[in-house]
Amino acid sequence: MLLAGAGASLLVADGINPPPTHAANTDFVRVDTTRKSRVLILLIDSWRHETAVDSTIMPTVARLSREGASGKIETVFEGFSIPALRAAFSGSAPTQLMNLVRNFRFRALPIESSFLDASRIGKRSIAIADEPFTQFGSVLERRSPAEQGLDMYGIDRLRPAMALDAYRSGTYDLVLCHFETADWRAHEVGVNSPVYAAAFARADSIVADFSRALRPGDYLLVFGDHGHNERGEHKTGIYIPTHGLFIGPDIKAGVVFPSLPIGDMRVIIDHALGIELRAPALETERLARFLPVETAAATPNDDAMNSGTTSRRPLDYLFFVLFLAAFVAAIRVATAGDHHERLLTPSIAAVAILFVVEVLAQQLLHPAWSLFPFVMAVVGAIAFQSGRSRGELHATSHHVLGAVIVTIALYFVTRFAPSADATSLIRTPVGTANLIPLYIAGSCAKLAILVSITGWRTGRQSWLPLLAAALLTTALAMLEFRVWDYPAVYITAILISALALVKVRTGPWHQLALVALGYSALYFTLRLPLYEYPWVDLFILATLLGTRAAGGPWLDALVITGAFALTSLWLPSGLEWGFLYGLFPAYVIELQVGWFVPAILLKLPLLLLLTFWATNTRPSRRFIALLLTYAGIRLIGVWLVRLGGASGSQVWPLAEQGLYLTTFAIAAVWLAGFGSQSPTTNDQLPITQSQ
Ligand SMILES: [Zn+2]
Repeated sequence: MLLAGAGASLLVADGINPPPTHAANTDFVRVDTTRKSRVLILLIDSWRHETAVDSTIMPTVARLSREGASGKIETVFEGFSIPALRAAFSGSAPTQLMNLVRNFRFRALPIESSFLDASRIGKRSIAIADEPFTQFGSVLERRSPAEQGLDMYGIDRLRPAMALDAYRSGTYDLVLCHFETADWRAHEVGVNSPVYAAAFARADSIVADFSRALRPGDYLLVFGDHGHNERGEHKTGIYIPTHGLFIGPDIKAGVVFPSLPIGDMRVIIDHALGIELRAPALETERLARFLPVETAAATPNDDAMNSGTTSRRPLDYLFFVLFLAAFVAAIRVATAGDHHERLLTPSIAAVAILFVVEVLAQQLLHPAWSLFPFVMAVVGAIAFQSGRSRGELHATSHHVLGAVIVTIALYFVTRFAPSADATSLIRTPVGTANLIPLYIAGSCAKLAILVSITGWRTGRQSWLPLLAAALLTTALAMLEFRVWDYPAVYITAILISALALVKVRTGPWHQLALVALGYSALYFTLRLPLYEYPWVDLFILATLLGTRAAGGPWLDALVITGAFALTSLWLPSGLEWGFLYGLFPAYVIELQVGWFVPAILLKLPLLLLLTFWATNTRPSRRFIALLLTYAGIRLIGVWLVRLGGASGSQVWPLAEQGLYLTTFAIAAVWLAGFGSQSPTTNDQLPITQSQ
């Protein structure tokens, strides 16, 4: 219900204030009927600009760039083939919140496109391509090589020759070939592998074949749909430019343009077909450097195009008030029946205000800002203080607990690189002097967590629990450091833990199996840089110590902000489904992301669950109320900036976080076991109920 509510509210937020679409004016200024030029297009899927200009991988592209115009092409906010191609051939790139979902649903009606323009003047187009071109409708002929027991790579390999046959036949005025192997290989191996270089060398040889086949007077347009990062990943919200190389009779040779919005491709393609569009290109001046287009008066740029004005419709505000009411109702339902605790105390209010401060810092300073190290310091201070009221014996132990928590918090703070020009907020540890203490600290933290679960104390008779904890720490470290980085290894670890979980139903061994399961699943799905994994152990240890000595809303806030930052905020690419590329072929994920949504959603709150399993606690109603507040601040933020006229790409980061936090809330509600168990209150541990 929570997830459906969040999704519905975003859909309504989309609906009440759609960004004004680019006035894709279909009026032709001029149609040159004498022009008999044909257009040959090679579309290299996921053509990263850096790879395109690397002459060791793509020597033909480097050579041909002296015969034509080339340069960087900006991709669309969604960062996937279908919306990027829609933008390239239609000239418009509206961004909306729920486009991520809509992208995978194809429309039967033809949209405005260069293909439709061509058919309007009686020219024929053919694409040797697959699904991404369904969206352009029947004005575009589509053909694919016969399967003949070939896999996707085998079929893709046959496409260029088929496209050249169609071009040479003279039947078509526009022939397009989609080369997708580049994208799939990039996902599989990342940019530093020889397999990657081979895939793009193959693309380069296709460019060579196409340029040899090009008849005088015809156009060759080579471009990509989006780029990718070092790991070959691309997704909504990561802008990685692609590349374009254009050769033709009236294209100025040797021009390197700075960058073009991908929507300008329609103007270039239409020009090659002999059509001048009335709609001014987004960057007409830049186009005019290599193409004989008339320079129109100043045209709105992409950002201005996508952002509207403040909503003046009363109905929009009514929707917003209804949304707020529904949100407050959700918090009330989640916390209903709790008469033991007042929900609005000064410290809860302080935590809620800090949540807002964090969102502002993420919006204004750096998207990776997190409260959790600072909240951890507060939890440490509370733990330190709490000893005083409890007599001598408690005082010492609480002082030690508090000091350890504060030390971990300070360590986290020193890892921040707050300068504005840093690409990442988190400093990368360099060299063994940095890395060895970090990994030792992380491993010690993990051992301490596992030892505390076994209940082992010095002076006990049996050393078995200590030995078990040490062995499990070693085994988990193997997974953590990706000693054997194969899905089968992680899945085996998950299965063994699950089996142990079923065999032993209660007690410390049960909890140990639960924690092993959580860690294995986390290491399998999270794909953080290795140096960030020790943070996970230190965070869980600090929370564990916190539950011993200090509870309350500050500990709740630590768990919420820490689990969210470590799993959803600090992913290097933000690609939460990156782990799927190790399990399934890239083309399956690329085209059918919808199938994997359950797996993606299930992995998001894993660290939250692991924290509760390791500390042997369950979320309280107050915890759930705070978590809903944390998610709600982002979803309400989406509405506020939407009503203010922001575009989809401007509000997407908040919307994405709000949706992901909704899965956290679902996991917390499930863990709290609402409806199945009557809550009991424990004054010693106000955050939780002991299991
Ligand atoms: Zn891809």
